[in-house]
Amino acid sequence: MSKTVILTGIRANNDLTLGNYFGGILPTVDMARNHAGEYQINMFIPDLHSFTTPIDHTQLYEQTLHNARIFTAAGLPLNNSDIYLYRQSYISAHSELTWILDCFTGFGEMSRMTQFKDKSQHILSQPRMETPPLKPVNGELVWDEDKQIEIENNHIDRVSVGLFNYPVLMAADILLYGAKYIPVGDDQTQHLEFTRNIAERMNNRFGELFDIPEAVKEQHAFFGKDQGLRIMDLLTPTKKMSKSDESGRGVIFLGDNPDEAARKVMGATTDDKAMVRFDRANQPGISNLLEILALLRGVKLNDIAAEFEGKTRYGDFKAVVADAVKNFLVDFQQKLASVDDAVVLAKLEQSERDLTPVANETLLKVQQAVGLRPKA
Ligand code: ATP
Ligand code: MG
Repeated sequence: MSKTVILTGIRANNDLTLGNYFGGILPTVDMARNHAGEYQINMFIPDLHSFTTPIDHTQLYEQTLHNARIFTAAGLPLNNSDIYLYRQSYISAHSELTWILDCFTGFGEMSRMTQFKDKSQHILSQPRMETPPLKPVNGELVWDEDKQIEIENNHIDRVSVGLFNYPVLMAADILLYGAKYIPVGDDQTQHLEFTRNIAERMNNRFGELFDIPEAVKEQHAFFGKDQGLRIMDLLTPTKKMSKSDESGRGVIFLGDNPDEAARKVMGATTDDKAMVRFDRANQPGISNLLEILALLRGVKLNDIAAEFEGKTRYGDFKAVVADAVKNFLVDFQQKLASVDDAVVLAKLEQSERDLTPVANETLLKVQQAVGLRPKA
C-alpha cells in the first residue's frame, strides 16, 4: 500500500437527498473512478459520526448498509482493488486514536470550531419540553425523576460532548491512513486545518508519527475548484436542501415514493413573476427547478434555461420537472433494488480486514510514543 491516499466519507444520519446525490455522491463516485489506479481511495461510512446529533438508533445499522448500497447503485466499482469501502466503527483504531488525540487537544481550540457553534445553536433553538416533571400519586402531584431525566436528555444533553469532539475523530479518520487528499466542503475546512495542527503538534513532541494532509489550498488545486452546486429546499428555496431537515416536505429523498416526490415538485414554492427564468436572486424557486432539471437531464443549465425562456405557465414547467424527478427515482430505485447485498457486505468486510492492520500500525506508533506500549 504505497499509493497516495485520498479519503472521503459521508455521514449516515438519514436517507440521502437529491442534493446529496448530485453534490456529494456522484462527484465522489466520479473522483473514485478517475483516481483509482494512481491513488488509493478510502471511502468510509462514518457511522460513529452519525449520532453526534440525535438520531433514531433503530435505523442506524440499516442506514449504514444503505449508504453503501447507494454508492454502489450510483456506480462505485466494488471490484476495484484501489477502492476501499469500510465502516469506521469496524476498525476500532479510530476510537482509540481519538481518545489519545483528545488529550492533546485544547478545550479552547475545539470551542472555536464554527460547525460546533452552528450545530449546537441549532439544537438548542428547538422547542424544549416546558411541562414540569410531575406525576400524580394518590391524588397529589409529586416530582417525577424519570421524567426529569427525560427532559434533561431531550434538552441540555442534546448538545453532546460527541458533537463538540467530532473534529478529533475526523482527525483520527484521516491520520490513521496517512491520507493526503480529503475533498471537503467549506464547512469542513476548519476541521482539516485542525487535523494538520494536531498532527504537527504530535510530531513535534514525539517524533514523526503522522503524515500531514495537504492544506486546503492544495486540496482545492487537486480536486478542482468547488463547483458550489447547491440544490435548494423546494418549499424554502433560499435555504439548501438538507437530509436532516425537520419536516422533509421540501426535500426529495432518494427513497421517496416517486409519485410522492413528483407531488413535492408540483408544490414547490415559486413566485408571482409568471416568467420561467434563471435568476437566483429574484426567482430562487424557479431557478432551483431549472437547476434540478439540468442535473437530471445531464445538460448545461444554460441550455435548460434557454429551452424554457419566456414560458409563463409555471404549472406546465413544474410538471416537466416533476416527471423528470419521478423518472429518475424510478430508475435509481431499480438500480438500488438490484444491488447485491452480499457483494456489498463482502466488499465492506474485505476492506475492513485489509485496512485494520494499516490503522493499527499507526495506532501502535502513537501508543508507543505516549508510553502505552513498550518501544520496539
Ligand atoms: P446534514 O443536514 O446532516 O448536514 P446534508 O444534507 O447537509 O445533511 P452533508 O452530510 O452535510 O449533507 O453533506 C453530504 C454531501 O452532500 C456533501 O458533499 C455536500 O456538499 C453535499 N450536499 C449536501 N446538501 C447539498 C445540496 N443541497 N446540494 C448539493 N450538494 C449537497
Ligand atoms: Mg450539511
